[in-house]
Amino acid sequence: IYPTAALQAVDAAHHIHPFTDTKELNAEGTRIITKAEGVWLTDSEGHRILDGMAGLWCVQVGHGRSEIADAVHKQMLELSYYNTFFKTSHPPVIALAEKIAEIAPDHMKRVFFCSSGSEANDTVFRMVRHYWDQMGKPDKKVIIGRWNGYHGSTLAGTSLGGMKAMHEQGDLPVPGVDHIDQPYWFGEGGDMSPDEFGIHIARQLERKIDEIGEDKVAAFIAEPVQGAGGVIIPPETYWPEIKRILSERNILFVADEVICGFGRLGSWFGSDYYGLKPDLMPIAKGLTSGYLPMGGVLVSDRVVEGLIDKGGEFYHGYTYSGHPACAAAALANLEIIQREKLVERVRDDIGPYLQSRWTVLGEHPLVGEARMVGLVGALELVPEKGNRKKAFADTGTVGTICRDISFQNGLIMRAVRDSMIISPPLVLSHEEADLLVATARKTLDDTYAELKR
Ligand code: PLP
Repeated sequence: IYPTAALQAVDAAHHIHPFTDTKELNAEGTRIITKAEGVWLTDSEGHRILDGMAGLWCVQVGHGRSEIADAVHKQMLELSYYNTFFKTSHPPVIALAEKIAEIAPDHMKRVFFCSSGSEANDTVFRMVRHYWDQMGKPDKKVIIGRWNGYHGSTLAGTSLGGMKAMHEQGDLPVPGVDHIDQPYWFGEGGDMSPDEFGIHIARQLERKIDEIGEDKVAAFIAEPVQGAGGVIIPPETYWPEIKRILSERNILFVADEVICGFGRLGSWFGSDYYGLKPDLMPIAKGLTSGYLPMGGVLVSDRVVEGLIDKGGEFYHGYTYSGHPACAAAALANLEIIQREKLVERVRDDIGPYLQSRWTVLGEHPLVGEARMVGLVGALELVPEKGNRKKAFADTGTVGTICRDISFQNGLIMRAVRDSMIISPPLVLSHEEADLLVATARKTLDDTYAELKR
């Protein structure tokens, strides 16, 4: 019904896509998604594709939930927009702040709103420095992130993240940001056991703080599980060692929950899963299941002391901080997650179910490791089974081939270098999980055959 070629031509002529090589795209044409329901997408040619990535790691409750659309419609008719600046507020943002306080860790009862994960991390950047200023320690400015971490595409987000290709475009990071390595045992663990490697990498934080000087370090930022960097699930020793270091050092800890939050790991937040006690938590994505754009920063009692109790205005905010329609979408989304017990479902039911089947893909000749936590997982594609140290010569090419074959086979997987990533909606049924794994297996077979040609 949709004129695919005509749409592709207009798209190519006028639309600049994020994270896309436009010349390549123009040669191949965009894939045009026209409809979505549950975990299923439909493209302009009528193909059904299983959304193994929940959009961009965000559609927790599945696509097409009329309850969210109805809540937004109702809110738009009542109060489509008003701001939250200068001592004003409105019922949906008040209700949402209360709901978030209910599900958040006990020491985080306040939330600042924005429109995305990137804005949340820009907010974090300024909040952290403002906090230390207010606490009488203006020299504490440096924020330590991790190589290969992802915290968004704005100047602060890109800088805090550790994607070197992003840094190269625009002369980033901005001053006052430093990085340590990621706990990526499969790729970088060498001859160490995962446990040894976890401690080894965590101690880089200690050394980095000493190198910069504790009196100059403001914060450490990390994703509980590094998502866009390739679903790097840390060895069991990693977070306990980081926690030890943080407990001994006077710096803030920022847990970026943009992917891990709202049930992805089978807990409300990734920090709950790993027993972390962050001072700040950027959130976005699963907050609204992507139905409307919204992000935020959860603020701990400790940060409230500097940010609020010590007084003064924090000159920061967005026109759409706490947008009423987005707040209504978030509330309806969180009500679905609670009512359908989706967090518990990931922890006790669909999480273990998919994990047990996904990890069997590790036996495939093309797969070096199949890992998964909660409902987010990766397959490491390797040229030589059993040899972790050998990567494909042209990094990323096999991943891209596999991703495109997967799409043809009816499953969205994302390629990060030569890892294949899934992060499906939390409503995935057992039958859909079986189909996902069967399609991933067929995709691996097809990719293997393609490489042998
Ligand atoms: N933080 C993390 C951990 C993310 O994965 C992302 C996006 O993928 C962001 C921040 C940026 O969020 P947004 O794309 O909503 O700006």
